[in-house]
Order: sequence, then C-alpha cells, then structure tokens
Amino acid sequence: MNVPFVDLKDQYQLIKEEVDKAISSCLENTSFVGGEIIQKFETEFATFLNVKHCVGCGNGTDAIELALQVANIGKGDEVIVPAYSWISTSEAVSTVGAKPVFVDINPQYYTIDVSKIEEKITPLTKAIIPVHFYGLPVDMDGIMQLANKHNLIVIEDCAQAHGAEYKGKKVGTFGDLACFSFYPGKNLGAYGDAGAVVTNNKDLAEKVRMVANHGQNGKHNHIVEGRNSRMDTLQAAILSVKLRYLDKWTDQRIKNANLYIEKLKDIEVITPKLPENIKHVFHLFVIQVNDRDNVMKALKEKGIGFALHYPVALPFLKPYIHLGFTANDYPVSHAFSQKLLSLPMYPELSEKQIEYVCESLKVEL
Ligand SMILES: *Cc1c(COP(=O)(O)O)cnc(C)c1O
Repeated sequence: MNVPFVDLKDQYQLIKEEVDKAISSCLENTSFVGGEIIQKFETEFATFLNVKHCVGCGNGTDAIELALQVANIGKGDEVIVPAYSWISTSEAVSTVGAKPVFVDINPQYYTIDVSKIEEKITPLTKAIIPVHFYGLPVDMDGIMQLANKHNLIVIEDCAQAHGAEYKGKKVGTFGDLACFSFYPGKNLGAYGDAGAVVTNNKDLAEKVRMVANHGQNGKHNHIVEGRNSRMDTLQAAILSVKLRYLDKWTDQRIKNANLYIEKLKDIEVITPKLPENIKHVFHLFVIQVNDRDNVMKALKEKGIGFALHYPVALPFLKPYIHLGFTANDYPVSHAFSQKLLSLPMYPELSEKQIEYVCESLKVEL
C-alpha cells in the first residue's frame, strides 16, 4: 500500500465541478485582480472566524509583514517569536527591519512556552507573534495577559490553524491582528499562493488594504509607499468554494488524528497532547520518536510518506547562526527538531491507510 504524506488530488476530484465553474467564471469575466469575488471571500472568511475585517493578500508571509508594518513595527523594535516554527514567522520580522527574539517552546504542546516570554521582554519589545503550531492553539489567555501588562501588540500566526479554537473562540480573533496562509497544503488551501490579514480594528484593516495595494486610498491617491501584495481573484474564487467544506474537512482530520492516537497507544511513540478547552485542527500529525533515522528508513521502504517540521529550529538556521546561540539556549526546540516526525495527514486519508502506517511503525519499534 502507498500512503502519500499529503494528497490534494482526491479533494480536487470531490469538488471539481464547483471549482472548475468558479475558475471559468473568472476567465469569462476576465476578472483577475480585485473585484467582487475577492470581497465575497473576504466577507465569508471573516464570518467564518467571527472577526470584523479580512483583507486578502499575496501569501501568508506577506500577511505577517503587512500586519507588522501597519502596527508600526520596524527598525529598533524587538518582536517575540517561537524558536520553533516555519521561517516566515521570524523572516517577516527581519524584513520590516525589526529583530526577532526567539523563545523556546513548551515540551508538551510544541507551541511557544508562555512562561519563558517575560524574561525576553526588554524596553525595545513591541510585539509577540504566537504561532498556533501544527493546528494547536497557543495559550491565548497567557499571551494576552503578558501583552496587556507590557503594552505589546499581538499578531497571531494562524497559517497552520484555520478553524482551531481556544475556549470556544476561533484563533485569529484574540490578537490585534492575525495572519493566515492559503498555501495549497494548508488546511484551507488555494491552488497557488494566497494569504489574509484579519482584525477587529477598522483602522488597521484599512491600512493593510492600502499598504498591500501600493499605498493607495482609491485609484492614484497614494498616501504612502506601499507594495503589491493582492490576492488573485482566481484564488479567491477557489477559496470561496473550499471554505464551504472546511468544517467537514477539519472533522475528518480530527477523526484521523484520533484513530492514530488510538492505534499508536501501545507503542513507544508520543502522540500529540491535547490541553483542555481547545480545538486542535491537525494541520500536521506529529509524533515523537527516538530513533528517527531508522523509523524514516522503514517508512520509506513501506511506501509511507512523512516529513520533518522542522529539521532545524529557527535559531540554528544559517540566517541566524551569527547570533551565536547554542542548544543550551533553546534546549526544547533543539531536542524536538531531532525527534519529531510528521505522519501522513489529510481529510481523505482512509482508516485502512492509517492502520497500515501504525502497523508499519509497530514492526519497526
Ligand atoms: C505556511 C506558513 C506561513 C507562511 O505562509 P506562506 O503562504 O507560505 O507565505 C507562516 N507561518 C507558518 C507557521 C506557516 O506554516
């Protein structure tokens, strides 16, 4: 049996008719940038999250940059980020001229360790970017308390957590601003790059829209120098179709995760821990294994896809090497970068496939 790490083909087949119709309608109307289709998706996504404003943009990395820019974060400022994430989180901070300050992750949940944030706050700290990592919400009460106490802006990185909930509220609705990616492999994925910034603050939403469209407030009325990071109309049309299925797909991901957890409970791997009062949307299903190289070899031989998220923690990637951090500075992130392994996870994964993956792991361990 072959179990790919992700498979976007089955899902396309299920919604092909609706997606193809949405695409041809864009082509026939030669509607490629801007317009009603974009507004429609923005409204639908804001409604889905229960947030007041959604502004589409080019991709999730741009979304973080735009959020930082409209929050006036730049040269001389420090921004707290987890030491274990996809590079976009810290990269965007550097791109706007600010300094990413890494905080180690929580060994239970792999998200930023809220108890270690305060020691990194300095008079230069302006913002925190909590990342709802792998689909698991960060302890947002803890983050908001710190932010209020130190007067910090909170920008949620929700790129892996569409529809995830903390205490019954969707992530992306807690901070001043929140950023989403619709990269094809994400829980809500376009058929190309796309992203969005959401916020309850009208003023910030208008600024994001302006900066993402060359600093214009209406045609040729350039207020500032901005940039071009607009969402493609084709992607918005596709996302509107796919958003209607998102809750169902999330339920299937959760069901698959529970099957994995159940079938792996007798063997020596550590499956994801679920804190109380959260909804984990399992963008990834990540386990801890000790002898990772051998496990990977065995999975490969059995035709099972897997991936590493991520093989090197952020402080130890080449762009940050000059900062001189050692494993002792970020022990948890460093240790997990060598132990975590992502198993196949997508809504259409079958129980048989999950069983096969678990049986293969059992033989190996
Ligand atoms: C995917 C991702 C992003 C960036 O999204 P792109 O659309 O690929 O630019 C940002 N943060 C995290 C945690 C991600 O996983």
